[in-house]
Amino acid sequence: MRKPFICGNWKMNTRGQCGAELAKAVADGIPAGSQVEVGVCPPTCYLGAVGPAIKGTAVGLGAQNMLAEADGAFTGEINPAMLNDLGCQYVILGHSERRQFFGETSEGVSKKTQAALAAGLVPIVCVGETLEEREGNQTEAVVAQQIEGSLAGISAEQLPTVVIAYEPVWAIGTGKVATPEQAEAVHAHIRKLLTDKFGGEAAEKVRIQYGGSVKPGNAAELLGQPNIDGALVGGASLKAEDFLGIIAAA
Ligand code: PEP
Repeated sequence: MRKPFICGNWKMNTRGQCGAELAKAVADGIPAGSQVEVGVCPPTCYLGAVGPAIKGTAVGLGAQNMLAEADGAFTGEINPAMLNDLGCQYVILGHSERRQFFGETSEGVSKKTQAALAAGLVPIVCVGETLEEREGNQTEAVVAQQIEGSLAGISAEQLPTVVIAYEPVWAIGTGKVATPEQAEAVHAHIRKLLTDKFGGEAAEKVRIQYGGSVKPGNAAELLGQPNIDGALVGGASLKAEDFLGIIAAA
């Protein structure tokens, strides 16, 4: 069975102290013996403040991006070894905001995915279609291209460590959530793509998160779908009560 994984993407929000308090409140609110894997991804500059607040708890630390390079002349960037040093377990890669505003491509995401795996980080690889693509019946083709491109160079042995986040762009931060049926259809499609490319044994082990306006009130139905193995949560991860409500629904 795949362990449900709920991860908070704080995006460019919080400050050091309130971020540490938020993460601590989440850690304190997770019931003992919970079978849900939980992570939080603060802004890069606060990883060092949030990490110590959740050290030794059930909440893991993740970054929102990284560069797939060793140390060197890359002004303003951070690499996998630095994320290790900061105590990160996870790194979100290819989020639609990075694809949309910073020109990230699936080819670049595949380099980052390989580098993350080589450094022992769990990559959370984001894919998803725009509203225009959905309305043009291109969802399956777009997601297939993104999966193919973003996982290039990954082996079947490495695949189970990778987490995929299906995030329809039209549902991110908009309050418009995909219906459980719409989400499940794409998750099943992704599982099929992974099966065709890597074989059923590896594909069955991959957690596929849904992301896009997940809230405590809609989480249970989404997470109840057979191929939805968790959630990548933006807005609702900024309030401990809401995030804990989603964790409880898993
Ligand atoms: C996200 O940023 O990955 C996300 C899903 O955001 P939201 O939950 O706010 O839609």
